Amino acid sequence: MRDFTGVLPTRLAGGRGICQPARMSGDAPHALIVEDEAAIRHGLTELLRSQGFVLDVAVDGHEAQIKLSTGRYDLVLLDWMLPGVDGLTLLQRLRARGDLTPVLMLTARGAEADVVAGIDAGADDYVTKPFGIRELISRVRGLLRRARPPAPRACFRVGEASVDLARLVVTWPGGQVDLSPREGLILEYLRARPGVAVTREALLTDVWGYHDGSVRTRTVDVHILQLRIKLRAIPGGDDWIGTVRGRGYRFEAEAV
Ligand code: CA
Repeated sequence: MRDFTGVLPTRLAGGRGICQPARMSGDAPHALIVEDEAAIRHGLTELLRSQGFVLDVAVDGHEAQIKLSTGRYDLVLLDWMLPGVDGLTLLQRLRARGDLTPVLMLTARGAEADVVAGIDAGADDYVTKPFGIRELISRVRGLLRRARPPAPRACFRVGEASVDLARLVVTWPGGQVDLSPREGLILEYLRARPGVAVTREALLTDVWGYHDGSVRTRTVDVHILQLRIKLRAIPGGDDWIGTVRGRGYRFEAEAV
């Protein structure tokens, strides 16, 4: 395995057992890599190709816009700072069309505001550059596993609010909020375990599909934070998700 200089730490680049092809069948996953920095783009291309992906590449925001509106992908790796149209705008337009394709944001270190804005716009997760191979592969595999939105029967009510996880919308007399695909999965998971303290690790495993424990991320907390901000618009929505100190989160609403 080559070292993607400046992209991936060398200590991980030589790691064993992490670069076997994931799927080599005719239904190989199809990913779009949107990245203007050539070194990172080439590194990602080589890595995902070694994992059995069929790849499409966009080097700027305009090219990405065209490919996202015409192509069908199982996963999008989306850089944030791009010439032309930026990553946030691309993501907002994608979700506005009702496109639920999993999106992994690629952000610069320390760009916390970008992460929050990205998750709020419907990103499924983020990685901070420079990132390691193992970490990236865990995310890519996980996001593919949990690519499907919740089942159509996943609807419930809390008071006057009606949660439709198939359409990813919460409605109540006088209002509605849209959920991102990942927010829908979080809500479905917590609601299925009323009163139970659900750990961040359980959410990473079951909602994001990250199974090997190598993913260290604040993505759960950022997602829950953004979900709570949305739920706050609902009468009583502030109380749906409680924090269990030192553990994680708990669904505390009366759902039927
Ligand atoms: Ca960039």
